[in-house]
Amino acid sequence: MVTLIMKKLLPTSTAGSLPKPLWLAEPETLWSPWKLKNNELIEGKKDALRIALHSQQLAGIDIVSDGEQTRQHFVTTFIEHLNGVDFEKRKTVKIRDRYDASVPSVVGPVSRQKPVFVEDAKFLRSQTNQPIKWALPGPMTMIDTLYDDHYKSREKLAWEFAKILNQEAKELEAAGVDIIQFDEPAFNVFFDEVNDWGIACLERAIEGLKCETAVHICYGYGIKANTDWKKTLGNEWRQYEEAFPKLQQSNIDIISLECHNSHVPMDLLELVRGKKVMVGAIDVATNEIETPEEVAATLRKALQFVDTDKLYPCTNCGMAPLSREVANAKLNALSKGAEIVRKELLG
Ligand SMILES: [Zn+2]
Repeated sequence: MVTLIMKKLLPTSTAGSLPKPLWLAEPETLWSPWKLKNNELIEGKKDALRIALHSQQLAGIDIVSDGEQTRQHFVTTFIEHLNGVDFEKRKTVKIRDRYDASVPSVVGPVSRQKPVFVEDAKFLRSQTNQPIKWALPGPMTMIDTLYDDHYKSREKLAWEFAKILNQEAKELEAAGVDIIQFDEPAFNVFFDEVNDWGIACLERAIEGLKCETAVHICYGYGIKANTDWKKTLGNEWRQYEEAFPKLQQSNIDIISLECHNSHVPMDLLELVRGKKVMVGAIDVATNEIETPEEVAATLRKALQFVDTDKLYPCTNCGMAPLSREVANAKLNALSKGAEIVRKELLG
């Protein structure tokens, strides 16, 4: 399947989540409760996944995903399936040093009794022959969304999560997933930890995988806490500079980044030369629809620092908090923008 991906120049994909249908969950809301129950919910999630896939196909997206239709939240839903975490015992913590959230507590050894997303991945695989990408939370971002009352060590807990993620990833690979992506927005915040053990944990999570692997590092969904934080970062966002040298040396195949409308200096991409780069050419924090020409301009800039065969046009982050209308229009813009540059490259 990997060869399938490689054949097309500038293969497009999304960072992960897409909006859910109105009948499944409250739109434009994170952690939105399900509107269905029991069997209806099971069926509803499958139908939503079909719609998310169809939207990507209509827009001409090359590497498709489930649009994260079966999860309430990109981190919490995975953790809900693990032993050792008590969702009744909640504590307020500061997520990514940015905003308070009430989170569950780790009360004992963490473990995974059964697969979390493997059935969903099999279902997506059964619906398409296109390359598929599946997102999992990264170990560091997982620990940042919990209160640890057991290990009392961020590093130890992250290491345990890495082992659990590796079990899940191996089963996703066996289910036919072509690219497994770990979401690590925390890599943009905890620089010392990233270099001390964060990247080591990520490599533990991908140990033994034969499919391609990606790490997604962004500046977050377009929610207020994130947009307010971005305003404090100044004119040049150099956060990527901290993790890139070690990531370049790591076994991760693909690095997924926020670019369009951000203040990330594009030349930082030089630090991960040799890796494939999913370049965010769609801003998920605005309802304004990019023109294909704007998308093309971002991709051309990235091409100064990324080899042609390693550039994967993408969105800055997930689009779950957007309306479906806006998300679909953005998917179209991404596809058309990539096509402009593809034509230029092929002369
Ligand atoms: Zn993101």
